[in-house]
Amino acid sequence: MASGDFSIVIDINNTKELKELGENFNHMGEKIETLIKNLELKKNELDEIIASLPIAFFLLDKDENILKINTIFKKTFIGNSNSRKLWQIFPENYPEFKSFLTKCKEEKRLLTKEINITDNFYQLTITYLEKNKEYIVLLQDITEKKRVEIIKKEFVANVSHELRTPLTAIKGYIETLEDELEGENAYYLTIIKRNSERLIAIVNDLMTLAQLENIKSIEFKKCDSVEILKNIILLYEKKAQEKNIEIVFKPNKEKIVTECDPFKIEQLFINLIDNAIKYSNGGKILINLEEKEKNLLFTIEDNGVGIPKEYLSRIFERFFVVDKSRSKKSGGTGLGLSIVKHIVMLHNGKISVESTQGVGTKFIISLPKKIK
Ligand code: ADP
Repeated sequence: MASGDFSIVIDINNTKELKELGENFNHMGEKIETLIKNLELKKNELDEIIASLPIAFFLLDKDENILKINTIFKKTFIGNSNSRKLWQIFPENYPEFKSFLTKCKEEKRLLTKEINITDNFYQLTITYLEKNKEYIVLLQDITEKKRVEIIKKEFVANVSHELRTPLTAIKGYIETLEDELEGENAYYLTIIKRNSERLIAIVNDLMTLAQLENIKSIEFKKCDSVEILKNIILLYEKKAQEKNIEIVFKPNKEKIVTECDPFKIEQLFINLIDNAIKYSNGGKILINLEEKEKNLLFTIEDNGVGIPKEYLSRIFERFFVVDKSRSKKSGGTGLGLSIVKHIVMLHNGKISVESTQGVGTKFIISLPKKIK
């Protein structure tokens, strides 16, 4: 029985005690046999599930040996080779894999990222199993999805580009007509003008977004964000006064020089200040800029309409607006915050928002001062 043969039956016909012991022993043997059979069944079931997963899977130990794989992984990455070391199978991507494995282990959670292996794009997901010191690695081929995404982006960029010229021409003719029309016709013309301006704003924002999405990395320059911000505030002073809004910006330093793309940072400040004015009536807009450890911290706080809690996670989506009519009236396109988020991402920064409906909104942006 100790060597795994549970069919053995003990002869129990001698004494009463031995009979009882023997019976218990036989019973235990039967139970263990069933348990082991169940375990084997479960293990086979798990192996089958792993084998039939529609994405590549492998199990990696702490010394980067591949312990277990599934059919797709073998077919896609191993073929007939006998390699079982991570660096042998992914020579080009080995450093990327290694740093991601370390990150997963340190952060003790499931992490996912996009990775480019040879000519394909994959969604890489890694889970660290603390107890066994092993990693579960999943690689899902997303090449087709990426291709469609690229086509979609190119389409949007091309359409926006093609629309800009005729729209600018329309606007030009409207302005010529403005001096000639009177009464009802002049009124209709103002509506046409407003809508054509809105279309131009959407097309411009779409083009900005398309350009931002196309950039792999940006050229960083040393620039003084206090100066950039002061100039933008000057531009918005009149618009703010018209709505009885006071813009307060009192930096505690004359200059804060960081590495950034000045035009993009300018655009980021413009979009956020413009929103703060658009969605406020009276009150103050408090702007702050400071250095905090290795980051540049920018905050902008208004006492405007605020954003309902349920929409806070969606405001950075393209075309998402909380109140369509309010956004339209104030010339919004629903793209301003998507642009802001992209600029923050290109600078490897972080953005968050706090808001209470009817009280106000605060955007917090942190950008690394120095880009590695
Ligand atoms: P829009 O062009 O409509 O302003 P954005 O992308 O800039 O588009 O913003 C998306 C939505 O987020 C806005 O429509 C608005 O509902 C909300 N929002 C943005 N900034 C503020 C703010 N400072 N206060 C209140 N709501 C805001």
